[in-house]
Amino acid sequence: MQIELKTSLKALEKAKKLGPKGVLKRLDKMGVVGRGGASFPTGRKWKIALETSSDEKFVICNADEGEPGTFKDKLIIKKNAETMIEGILIAAYTIGAKRCFIYLRGEYDHLRIELETKIKEIIKKSGLAVTIEIIRGAGAYICGEETSIIQSIMGNRGHAMYKPPYPPVEGLWGKPTIVNNVETLTGVSQSILFDDWDSSLRLFSLSGNVENPGVYEFPLGVKMSKILDVVRSKNKIKAVSFGCFGGFMKIKKNMEITHENICKEGCQHGAFSMIFIDETHNIVDVSYTIAKFYTYESCGKCTPCREGTIRLLERIKQVKEGKATKKDLELLKEFAEHVQETSLCGLGQSAGNYILTGLKHFKSDYLEYLK
Ligand code: SF4
Repeated sequence: MQIELKTSLKALEKAKKLGPKGVLKRLDKMGVVGRGGASFPTGRKWKIALETSSDEKFVICNADEGEPGTFKDKLIIKKNAETMIEGILIAAYTIGAKRCFIYLRGEYDHLRIELETKIKEIIKKSGLAVTIEIIRGAGAYICGEETSIIQSIMGNRGHAMYKPPYPPVEGLWGKPTIVNNVETLTGVSQSILFDDWDSSLRLFSLSGNVENPGVYEFPLGVKMSKILDVVRSKNKIKAVSFGCFGGFMKIKKNMEITHENICKEGCQHGAFSMIFIDETHNIVDVSYTIAKFYTYESCGKCTPCREGTIRLLERIKQVKEGKATKKDLELLKEFAEHVQETSLCGLGQSAGNYILTGLKHFKSDYLEYLK
């Protein structure tokens, strides 16, 4: 396959001139944080891996974009994979890794051949003695979580592991490993190359009951009204769901979209996927779909999530079928809190968000269904 590369590897050259410690300083100064959801400072994560002595270290690019309503990484891989690959090489150079992996979502397998060709060409051009291997995900949502990815790459079942130890200290085969998302690694290259790189810019995946779904770039602090102007809708939008895990929020047109404002509503922005829901939908119906998703995707390792997600589905179904009372709603809330508090990983810990925020902001939708 003939490919015209869209990079001259200037960011990598600059990183080599800065040296590993200089790269870390640069990432901190530019405010590079993880874009997969946790917003952890990238330089701090890499510093731990750099300072942990080991004969072998690894870099994993998390391209297992499985959160419903999230499709920004797919666009980057399609349109700008070179910048992401350069980011992987900068990471490898900085922490001293020789083996890197891209954990590619199974549904994105059609992007693999072109990606492999670009990897080959870029590594040749870089002069680094590094390999980047693509691992195809098998469709488990939990493998978007870093310890599950690590298990999956090692050939084990994709189960989340207890932390600590954290991957930058003990990851793949017990060696220091950094796991970064596609958008983060793309931002690494850009933040090293461009002095005016803006850390507040984020890719938003916008979908749902809108006329112009797609990936859009906005700065943090953008007004909700601006986003609504761009996506447009036939009916009035009443809610936004941050993927499946982040919970429901009421539409407040003057609200600035920031981490703090979203948290105040009891939601989590994650990777900024916003699924818009119009007034023709009842939140209980949407919640039923989300409940089925969680039941299906729970990996089954811990009891609160394995059993709890099934019980939550049963209780939402009870509401939907008009068989629940006000007392049942109280139990539903209590149950959702319990599942979140006692589950092992982020999946179970977020498995009640859609219920808690639904009951908080859209109680009238629930009341419509009571017997
Ligand atoms: S919380 Fe759910 S997904 Fe996470 S380890 Fe427990 S069963 Fe698996």
